[in-house]
Amino acid sequence: MLVIKTVDELQDVLFRVHSAGKSVGLVPTMGALHEGHLSLMKRARRENQATVCSIFVNPTQFNNKEDLEKYPRTLEADLKLVEEYMDFVFAPSAEEVYKVPATEHYDFGDLEKVMEGPMRPGHFNGVGIIVKRLFDWIRPDKAYFGEKDFQQIAIIKSLVRQCNLDIQIVPCPIVREESGLALSSRNKRLSEYEHTQAANIYRILKESLELKTDSVAEIKKFVANEIEKIDVLKLEYYEIVDGETLQPVNSLNDSNSIVGCITVYAGEVRLIDNIRYK
Ligand code: AMP
Repeated sequence: MLVIKTVDELQDVLFRVHSAGKSVGLVPTMGALHEGHLSLMKRARRENQATVCSIFVNPTQFNNKEDLEKYPRTLEADLKLVEEYMDFVFAPSAEEVYKVPATEHYDFGDLEKVMEGPMRPGHFNGVGIIVKRLFDWIRPDKAYFGEKDFQQIAIIKSLVRQCNLDIQIVPCPIVREESGLALSSRNKRLSEYEHTQAANIYRILKESLELKTDSVAEIKKFVANEIEKIDVLKLEYYEIVDGETLQPVNSLNDSNSIVGCITVYAGEVRLIDNIRYK
């Protein structure tokens, strides 16, 4: 496995890989890797002749300075974890990635007007900037993203359409702890108590699937009430949306693809998760 720090080297190496006619799978990450990330890498390994992951805490997608500073960074351990699956790891500095300043502006239309969009102004533009740059430098055939970041997948698919890229976006299922808590690099920041209580998020989402109603208002009320019962959890939003357009629906009968997306603070730590109704 080759660890690459500069864009020049990355492009050189990938030029050779493409010239040899090999298919390339990319897994973009921000590091502090866990089994969720590794599930993407295992799939990339199975489906491609060459594999690349990026490990880069991308400052342009953080709208909160403290969140950026506190984001866990564990490069040495990460490299050991991915060795089995990756041919190349791109782990650049921010100076390297933003040698050309980040002036790009993407318009994701209605996809960015809901949920994470208004809550994290500038976040999806930052995601668009880094992912488009990685796509340009690496030119993957397939890129792997986790469904934990459900809205992000819709944004990346829109980026691919807008820029006319010949890249297949591969959504991968959420990997969870035995408790049901979705694995996240941010879980490392939870206290033991917060960590235990955070498992209630998925329990409540699952219980909401069993409610005998099609009314989104009723389901949202149930989830909000249940979250409120857990002392360390604070609901930011629970939205039930069309799985393609991400626009809110009123009834589970409004579309044949419906997903509930939640953001909850466990103490100071912002956690996201989602569940599919149909
Ligand atoms: P991050 O490092 O948090 O930016 O995540 C990098 C990629 O891993 C994104 O596509 C995430 O959606 C994905 N990912 C993170 N956590 C999980 C998880 N628990 N299950 C599946 N994919 C995940």
